[in-house]
Amino acid sequence: MGKIKVLSVFGTRPEAIKMCPLVKSLEKDQSIESIVCVTAQHREMLDAVTEIFDVRPQYDLNIMAHGQTIVDVSNKVLHGVDQVIKECKPDIVLVHGDTSTTLNSALAAFYNKVPVGHVEAGLRSGDIYSPFPEEANRKLTGAITTLHFAPTKSNEDNLLKEGINKNIYVTGNTVIDALLNVINKNHKFEDKNLNTIDFNNKKVILLTSHRRENWGEPMKEIFSATRNLVEANEDVVVIFPMHKNPLIRELAKESFKGLEDKVKLIEPLEYVDFANLMSKCYLIMTDSGGVQEEAPALGKPVMVLRTETERPEALEAGTVKLVGIQKNNIFEVANELLNNIEEYNKMAHATNPYGDGKSCERIVKLIKEYFSE
Ligand code: UDP
Repeated sequence: MGKIKVLSVFGTRPEAIKMCPLVKSLEKDQSIESIVCVTAQHREMLDAVTEIFDVRPQYDLNIMAHGQTIVDVSNKVLHGVDQVIKECKPDIVLVHGDTSTTLNSALAAFYNKVPVGHVEAGLRSGDIYSPFPEEANRKLTGAITTLHFAPTKSNEDNLLKEGINKNIYVTGNTVIDALLNVINKNHKFEDKNLNTIDFNNKKVILLTSHRRENWGEPMKEIFSATRNLVEANEDVVVIFPMHKNPLIRELAKESFKGLEDKVKLIEPLEYVDFANLMSKCYLIMTDSGGVQEEAPALGKPVMVLRTETERPEALEAGTVKLVGIQKNNIFEVANELLNNIEEYNKMAHATNPYGDGKSCERIVKLIKEYFSE
């Protein structure tokens, strides 16, 4: 056969962070023709990442619109990717993770009888409604995938339990490939707010929260616990890069009124700044998935603001704690980590259950092997 035509489809910031290093590895390989389609389920946040990695998509569905539902997004992705597949006729379609872009791109490939390669396969929380709709997205994608690239052994086990027993490969997570590309001890932040922060004398907490399940009451609890923390601890500064969602932004502004010196509400950070901020801060409180994978590699304790996690490896390694969404519990755990150095040190050790930075290389090799059989 000639070159293997690989179509990679992604649409959100976290997918882009984890797929761009893979696209670069595909591009480097002489036996592969790499084609990229972005759905732009996120717009600005996606473009910022493709720019960092110098990935230039051949197709851009530009689907983002204000106030659209999951059904609207799904509809546009399914139709859009179907057209792209018909036009460029790939040998394989690579999707990532668990978004509406993932599931509907996989479905479009399946309907065209093109094999699907699922990057970051096998993550499960065990609750179909949490995270929503991601748990269903990844399970359904797994059911129509040909090559499963599972980051860890436990992800592989999840697939085996569902009766999937062919073509599962433990590759590590490409998030570590991305991270190792951008961390730099002497990094100067693009975001000026961050260059004024005294990371040596302040305990800086990095807070992120955007998950759908946390909109409303849970987020009020998270913000209220954070407020109590800065009021109880003189030396604490909180940095909250706000997601673009207006509901979250309004609630954050209202919740932290009067605390502008100690709680910095800033714009979402571009990835290089964010990764380097993780490496400089004291503690991370987050409901993000990707951050749970990145922070352990940097030796930063993570409090997960959720009731479940599909990432048990870091829990087992002891660098991540599942603290839920109740104000008192969040306050108590964080306060302990701020004031009890022994407890802090127990969590703050670099461990890397998610990969060695060579996941992309492995995935490229596996794709080539599949087509040489
Ligand atoms: N991230 C970023 N800027 C920010 C917040 C997060 O670049 O202001 C990165 C972070 O390093 C991680 C990814 O975005 O790689 C996580 O994205 P998010 O929390 O939106 O999604 P999830 O991982 O929960 O799917």
